[in-house]
Amino acid sequence: MSEQTYKIPGETEEAHCLQCGDLLGYGRAGRIFCSDSCRHRWHNDKRKEDIDRIRVRFIRIMDRNYRILRDAVESEKTTLDKAIAIDKGFNFNYMTSYTKSGRHGRYTCYNIRYEVSESKIYNIAFIRRLRD
Ligand SMILES: [Zn+2]
Repeated sequence: MSEQTYKIPGETEEAHCLQCGDLLGYGRAGRIFCSDSCRHRWHNDKRKEDIDRIRVRFIRIMDRNYRILRDAVESEKTTLDKAIAIDKGFNFNYMTSYTKSGRHGRYTCYNIRYEVSESKIYNIAFIRRLRD
């Protein structure tokens, strides 16, 4: 028998399932998955990748904030100019907790607490006891 290959009528040129890589057989034109299970798996994996990217980004930002605050505390500064903090890469949108307290908010970055005014980060200090 010869090694001749036959093209299945209606089959698109070398179309493979995006998830498992199997050849796609008959079906709706423009199909990219061989089955519902492959489609679901692909979307779940994508969602997981998105979450992982967000987690990595969050951790990186929190680490930078933490280092800036810790450097201040360790060099016995309790106050940091907002402009200087921003210069060092501090991101004010990220924190581990926030409590409204008086005029200004009280924040934490892991085991460091701080408050923020219009121009300063102040009362920067390690938290003695962590609560959950
Ligand atoms: Zn598949």
